[in-house]
Amino acid sequence: MTAETVEVVETRANIDDLKGKPKIAYFSMEIGINEHIPTYSGGLGILAGDTLKSCADLNIPIVGVTLLSENGYFYQKIDENGNQIELPFNFNINDFLKPLPTRTEVKIEGRDVKIRIWYYPVRGISGYIVPIFFLDTNLEENSDEDREITKYLYGGDLKYRLSQEIVLGIGGIRALKAMGYKTIDKCHMNEGHAAIGTLELYHRFKDIEKVREQCVFTTHTPVAAGHDQFDISLAKSMIGDMLPESIMEDVTFDNKLNMTRLALFFSHYVNGVAKKHGEVSREMFPGYSIDSITNGVHTTTWVSEPFQRVFDKHMPGWRSDSYVLRSAFSIDKKEIWAAHMDAKKTLIDFVNNRYNVGMNYEHFTMGFARRQTPYKRPDLLISDPERLAQIAEKIGPIQIIYAGKAHPKDGAGKESIKRIIRSMKHIDGNIKMTFIHNYDMTIGKMMTAGVDLWINTPRRPMEASGTSGMKAAHNGVPQFSTLDGWWIEGCIENITGWSIGSKKSNEGESDDDADRNDLYKKLETQVMPKFYTDRDNWIRTMRSCIAINASFFNTNRMIQQYVLNAYFK
Ligand SMILES: *Cc1c(COP(=O)(O)O)cnc(C)c1O
Repeated sequence: MTAETVEVVETRANIDDLKGKPKIAYFSMEIGINEHIPTYSGGLGILAGDTLKSCADLNIPIVGVTLLSENGYFYQKIDENGNQIELPFNFNINDFLKPLPTRTEVKIEGRDVKIRIWYYPVRGISGYIVPIFFLDTNLEENSDEDREITKYLYGGDLKYRLSQEIVLGIGGIRALKAMGYKTIDKCHMNEGHAAIGTLELYHRFKDIEKVREQCVFTTHTPVAAGHDQFDISLAKSMIGDMLPESIMEDVTFDNKLNMTRLALFFSHYVNGVAKKHGEVSREMFPGYSIDSITNGVHTTTWVSEPFQRVFDKHMPGWRSDSYVLRSAFSIDKKEIWAAHMDAKKTLIDFVNNRYNVGMNYEHFTMGFARRQTPYKRPDLLISDPERLAQIAEKIGPIQIIYAGKAHPKDGAGKESIKRIIRSMKHIDGNIKMTFIHNYDMTIGKMMTAGVDLWINTPRRPMEASGTSGMKAAHNGVPQFSTLDGWWIEGCIENITGWSIGSKKSNEGESDDDADRNDLYKKLETQVMPKFYTDRDNWIRTMRSCIAINASFFNTNRMIQQYVLNAYFK
């Protein structure tokens, strides 16, 4: 036996030991575990990775299934005019994942497409292992076209996407069977990308109710383009008779095979990812019962080293029990500030060394990092540079750090990167700005821990949840955001951060001008004065972020809700 088969047998035994408990398979097009394994693009993938890490910490018998995405999403460079350059991410798979001897296959357009499986063990705090399986079609036996299927995350056209979803959904279910997972009690579809796997289950059981008993579906986006749909003729030519005529009416919408409808139809439990998003989803899909479980982040992944030391000293047990973070109120303010300054220095040194921007440790620093796309309004904060300059003049210097990728086909998202880069050239004096290239988990962690204020400006109600502000809260960094997604639940005004837009504005859609005015006004009259002239109270706010928000908005609490409401139902 080679070392790798030993590991796998060991993992399988791990799962089989838990007879009588549910065995859950968690399907996600992207899973982000760390910055070395670039098989994620953003929030969805990092949530999936954080979820599986919490399962490992809490000994929850689950396995993750995803695609290999051999060249990642893309490696981002930005030229001096602000153009985003997308390069394949060169990822040395063998350094991080182990190939398994088991193979499986799916039929695409009548061809047999062979699938190899790579393995990564997520080790929990007490050594419990949650396996992740990465599906890979880059095998000699496959045609050149089929070898490409698992290369690029979210790359290619609709046909490419459907091929990926066939490999993930149908291939994923078959892979688990081939590896010896004979009974999977629940299949959790993290977004609709794996919905096609329900058809494999339907063919196995020939019983809609039996499929429903197994399936759990989490929808993630109120944006129409986020819901995959395919021409029925394309779907039929790709998967043939896997698509039964008898359910066509239930799973099509506007004459298209709609992956969200397919997942809704075959699931006994469906949820949105924040309370508001549950409401929005119920309006989008009338007739379905849709619950909500608010997202979280994996606490030990996102707490910076300086805060880890403070937490170890004052709140032993916080690593396995996130509720312990409630007692952060008892930590001395000096220690909170010292840990924050440590994390801030790391970030400021990084941007100064890399981008030569001459930022200062003491100056008020704001961060914005996320996918660059219009609904998140990445440049709202700098859309009136004169106003911002006046505020800096009056209250104190301002530093702004940006990061984020635009999807290669999102022209408007790329334009906002250009606008940010262009405005950097016109801003001077009391304002310093920079844009960190190739946003990834390391940059995300460094930024959410190292800035003084985390900015988020989505247009309501487009942000399903958002999670970067939760990472900030874990590091005592308050958020300043429109009331959308998780922030409707997490914002206690002037205690855990601030809202942008009037109190009542979590109703209805956003008004850019009103939000911009409110952002600047609050920055000038409340947020920055508190930072520069009322430091003691500022640190109190930092502490509340940890005690009130980090103790709740984490994946340990989140997965416990999934276990009770979705998996055990
Ligand atoms: C946390 C994170 C995201 C998601 O952040 P949102 O606030 O949900 O947009 C995206 N990318 C990276 C690298 C992250 O760390």
